[in-house]
Amino acid sequence: MDVSHLLDGLNEHQRQAVSAPQSSMLVLAGAGSGKTRVLVHRIAWLLQVEQQSPYSILAVTFTNKAAKEMLGRVEQVTGRVSNRMWIGTFHGLAHRLLRAHYQEAKLPQSFQILDSEDQHRLLKRIIKSLGLDDKRWPARQAQSYINAKKDEGLRPKHVDAGYHPMEKQWLQIYQLYQEACDRAGLVDFAELLLRAHELWLNNPTLLNHYRDRFRHILVDEFQDTNAIQYAWIRMLAGDSGKVMIVGDDDQSIYGWRGARVENLSKFLTDFDGAKTIRLEQNYRSTGNILNAANQLIAHNPDRLGKNLWTEGKDGEPIGLYSAFNELDEARFIVGRIKDWADKGGSLSECAILYRGNAQSRVLEEALLQQRLSYRIYGGVRFFERQEIKDAMSYLRLVANRDDDAAFERVVNTPARGIGDRTLEIVRATAREQSSTLWRAAQFLIEQKGLAGRASSAVNGFLSLIAQLEDECSDLAMHKQVDHCIIASGLKDMYRAEKGEKAEARIENLEELVTAARSFEPDETQENLTEMDAFLAHAALEAGEGQADAFEDAVQLMTLHSAKGLEFPLVFLAGVEEGLFPNQRAIDEGDRLDEERRLCYVGMTRAMQKLFISHAEQRRLYGREHYSAPSRFIREIPRQYLDEIRLKTQVSTPSSSVANRFHQSEQTFEQTGLSLGQRVSHPKFGAGVVVNYEGHGPQSRVQVHFDRVGAKWLVVAYARLEPI
Ligand code: ATP
Ligand code: MG
Repeated sequence: MDVSHLLDGLNEHQRQAVSAPQSSMLVLAGAGSGKTRVLVHRIAWLLQVEQQSPYSILAVTFTNKAAKEMLGRVEQVTGRVSNRMWIGTFHGLAHRLLRAHYQEAKLPQSFQILDSEDQHRLLKRIIKSLGLDDKRWPARQAQSYINAKKDEGLRPKHVDAGYHPMEKQWLQIYQLYQEACDRAGLVDFAELLLRAHELWLNNPTLLNHYRDRFRHILVDEFQDTNAIQYAWIRMLAGDSGKVMIVGDDDQSIYGWRGARVENLSKFLTDFDGAKTIRLEQNYRSTGNILNAANQLIAHNPDRLGKNLWTEGKDGEPIGLYSAFNELDEARFIVGRIKDWADKGGSLSECAILYRGNAQSRVLEEALLQQRLSYRIYGGVRFFERQEIKDAMSYLRLVANRDDDAAFERVVNTPARGIGDRTLEIVRATAREQSSTLWRAAQFLIEQKGLAGRASSAVNGFLSLIAQLEDECSDLAMHKQVDHCIIASGLKDMYRAEKGEKAEARIENLEELVTAARSFEPDETQENLTEMDAFLAHAALEAGEGQADAFEDAVQLMTLHSAKGLEFPLVFLAGVEEGLFPNQRAIDEGDRLDEERRLCYVGMTRAMQKLFISHAEQRRLYGREHYSAPSRFIREIPRQYLDEIRLKTQVSTPSSSVANRFHQSEQTFEQTGLSLGQRVSHPKFGAGVVVNYEGHGPQSRVQVHFDRVGAKWLVVAYARLEPI
């Protein structure tokens, strides 16, 4: 049989790995060196050359999307379709196994998967039933505790809380939670893996069956496996299974979620005779991008060490753009994407990567303004996010009591004791009287149509909205938004949840304040109040929907979800101290290396052209930040960077000083500011101008504020008013 096509398009080392005799091996190699390609060809080789049955192959990928792609690629190379092979994520495979053996796993046949939100709700109930204060014992923290224990393979009985009363309490919650799940036939994500592991542990016959079956195990992105995943693979392989793992210690970015990069070296000791194959040629990126990434990651200690090179051209240097602020940054990025599209490139070849989800909003708006389709990969668009919709619903109700959708959404969010039964009565009354929910609720209260407690809860909600309207009437729009988020209790509600997700939600809420502050209605909205224009804008953006999978669209995603992917044109946005690396990593020190690896992952997604940008001033999470460029930029040698200077005018908030400044490009003195002059700033209050530098849009002034001391500000953005 001619099998040359299995080795075509592979280099010497890749061929070695693909055609190695059946044995365990580690393919350790840097980004873009063809690890995933090798894995696919190895599967094809096992099938076609080694004549192994598809039945004997189990392959693990990091995402479902990657699993689908891998199956597609195997079929392409081998020309046949096989559903007898198992290809999937760890969770997907464990689920498949538990479905097939639910009885041995002690699960009901109809067991259901508990997603993270359901898990949270259940834990909340349990904490409440224990009579604990959920501020001290937040459900989110219980969730992290339980998931982390499960990821380590630990049941409550395996944990020794010793004399630690806190730990004892968490443990009791874990215990009760587990009993509740078992009674209801519910399985959370971490449980899938733990249960699948125990299934084999407790059923040697079954384990032997699968050991006989899956003689070939292949795992991609091995550097991000956790303890239970490792144990699962180890157990399945036994003494005779052949395991091929591929990975890159420099791309380990999930340490914060329990991944253990040491699993790479553990593999070599645990699997007798496992060979290491290194791939050093990179096929993805140009020389400049690759060398810059290599130099950056060289700043990390304790690396396994790799030497990546490319035969390809140096290509263009990395574009480095120092933006004045986040709007300028977004405009720059979108401008470059337009250039790319104008030259015949497709939008889906462009990716914008950022550290945190909240950063997407400004980018989304800039893309919408230019009518460029975009997709948020593995995420939800800003105005469609749960917390944003909650907040907008309060604003909508304040503006319009008859907004039923908004009413439904927040009448009991945060929880205020308005149950489903009460709501059903309100809905029925509204139906009967053909009125809105608000009016029906009012009617029921007046007519005493609700039980005492329900009635006062509903009344409380109606008064809250009226009170919000009162309190907002004299406030600037962004202050109204801020006030509603706080006074409605939304912020506290999310704050009490704790954990990564809750933090992101609070950041998004704060970002909504920024959105309101920089919102400018367009001409079509002249007749609307500013708030109505803002609400319409948000609704339209949310209603736009994601570009579908087949539409040509710019790809937006966090750096974490970009792992394994590649794009001709890549932007790394917001590369600033405090944002990337994020402040917590800076404060805690030991997480800086992981941030640097994340930067390495980001840079190495780029094939032809990479832009890195940072903003001197950024409104994010509702606050102003003045940040230095990230240390990661400094760690890239100058020779690979091309600093881009733009002379374009940036749009400014409508401060009188800023406007005058821009209209005539006047010099510092002509802006109305002079040394020694007293000015006022919306946030810092009154102060004296003591210094200035630069000219044009870049001019800055130093103001000595009475309250907060000296600060340098960009004149165009500072909203300074002479007093
Ligand atoms: P990552 O670490 O980012 O997951 P990787 O090591 O898995 O990267 P691949 O995605 O497999 O790398 O390959 C990177 C790119 O290089 C892909 O476009 C792939 O098709 C191409 N490639 C890999 N090997 C070769 C080769 N021998 N000749 C030409 N192109 C190759
Ligand atoms: Mg890969």
